[in-house]
Amino acid sequence: ATPTAVMVATGVGATNGVLIKGGEALETARNIRHVVFDKTGTLTKGKPCVTSVKLFSNMKVMDFLELSASAEAGSEHPLAKALVDYMNGFLSSQGDESSDALHIKNTGWLRNVDSFEVVPGKGVRCNVDGRKLLVGSLRLLQEQDIMISSEAETYMHNIEQMARSEVLVAIDGQLEGIFAVADPLKLEAAVVVQALKRMGISSIMVTGDNWRTARAIAKEVGIDQVVAEVLPGEKAEVIKELQERGSIVAMVGDGINDSPALAMANVGIAIGAGTDIAIEAADFVLIKNNLEGVVTAIDLSRKTFSRIR
Ligand code: ADP
Ligand code: MG
Repeated sequence: ATPTAVMVATGVGATNGVLIKGGEALETARNIRHVVFDKTGTLTKGKPCVTSVKLFSNMKVMDFLELSASAEAGSEHPLAKALVDYMNGFLSSQGDESSDALHIKNTGWLRNVDSFEVVPGKGVRCNVDGRKLLVGSLRLLQEQDIMISSEAETYMHNIEQMARSEVLVAIDGQLEGIFAVADPLKLEAAVVVQALKRMGISSIMVTGDNWRTARAIAKEVGIDQVVAEVLPGEKAEVIKELQERGSIVAMVGDGINDSPALAMANVGIAIGAGTDIAIEAADFVLIKNNLEGVVTAIDLSRKTFSRIR
């Protein structure tokens, strides 16, 4: 293709919501065989919502909620935001309607937090009002030898089968409760996976979330290859393994922990609303945050480079 053809393609991309940062990736895109999708914020809307809470002791509900939300208040993670939103919503539904109407966030629930620490890909640990909190995945709690009752296991099993994620809360060494959190798929996610399949491209989902939730979500969107419980540094490894088997691989992601994988992929595609680091690492940016841009970009590459002019 001539430089003019690449320029034209870049323009067509832009009008269709795809920012093409370089001609080389545009040329590679026509040979993509696998597209690896991050889950949260890429296939899903990335605005998770608490759908239920279960307590395993006779601790007061308000105490449990306030301690949990306080622990998560310092985290930027979408699941942390879901817990904080839930706390705020819980208060405004308890009759404090004035603050809701005025859009004033009630932060009266925020307790004293110290020794706050993020455990990457697992959750947070800190002291809240002098009590030791662990908030995050099953793995996080298991690593600290927290006992998981069979009642808790059954509850998690149910959550996971409904394609929901869970956030476990341990207080002073005991599992006190579990939040179930739902993060719906983007409306176009399933049709994009189907369109790619028709183009001879297979989709793979990669996530730090647990295996069962990951599989349930993948099933909803029509993806049969899943890699779950991946730690933040490991997503790039998944890309590398596919490449070593001779594949041209694209990665689609939005998070800081996706950026090494975006850089490793033959074509890195960032969600426009994603983190700056992801956008920097990518070759294409979906400026409208719409996954159909993945199909558009590959189509454009095939059309631009199919004939020698
Ligand atoms: P991904 O980007 O694929 O969603 P992350 O590495 O951000 O994965 O998180 C992996 C898992 O770690 C989450 O599914 C969750 O179980 C747990 N986790 C991480 N941070 C938090 C947090 N602040 N609160 C609760 N759980 C968390
Ligand atoms: Mg993400």
